[in-house]
Amino acid sequence: MRIVLLGPPGVGKGTEANMLSKKLSAVHISTGDMLRQEVRENTELGRKARSYMNHGKLVPDDIIMAMVKKRLKKMGTVPSGTVPNFSGFVLDGIPRTFVQAEALDDILKELGASLDFVIDLDAREEVLIERLSGRRVCKKCSALYHITNMKPKKDGICDRCGGELYQREDDKVETIRKRLKVYQEETKDLIEFYRKKSILFTINAEGKPEETFRKIMSNLNV
Ligand code: AMP
Repeated sequence: MRIVLLGPPGVGKGTEANMLSKKLSAVHISTGDMLRQEVRENTELGRKARSYMNHGKLVPDDIIMAMVKKRLKKMGTVPSGTVPNFSGFVLDGIPRTFVQAEALDDILKELGASLDFVIDLDAREEVLIERLSGRRVCKKCSALYHITNMKPKKDGICDRCGGELYQREDDKVETIRKRLKVYQEETKDLIEFYRKKSILFTINAEGKPEETFRKIMSNLNV
């Protein structure tokens, strides 16, 4: 199954994408995680992306699409004459603009695939700010925690791999507001784009992650 998760920062796309990819044996592709990895490794792409990210701005479409195309092509590459093993993915954090949505369609067409579902996760702004400002991330494995709702067993240490937890630069309150504004301006219209294709459904994601996950699963025909 090929799925896109849409929704504002803090709505839980990462957490839900993770649960979904496990349940559906699909690959979780997060452009935010891919970019943070590039920044950590100080690659040319990472150096280009860093200041956009730290200021809550979108990284330019051409950079994003080149990165995603490479990732999807790697998944879809098969010896000629065989059927592509392009079974499933959950895209988290992309598309964020019309240009990206159209470019994604083109890439998938080239690979002989299309999207099955677009899940639009929704929550009120005050809920998003509370979630994002308390979020902590593992430096090593990107596992997500929250200072009140999802504490690690040991303060500042990842339960899964023992890595150090940190607050993302863009999870500081001023940058959060900027990111929410960017979402309203750049990404919200995509909901209409996918609604017209009749592959979109909207889920209220203010509850616990497991509750949102149950709602998502009951909408997927699996
Ligand atoms: P996320 O982890 O999805 O919240 O992404 C963190 C930051 O990475 C965003 O605020 C953007 O600066 C950048 N980013 C991630 N995905 C995209 C995308 N599809 N288009 C442009 N910028 C992106």
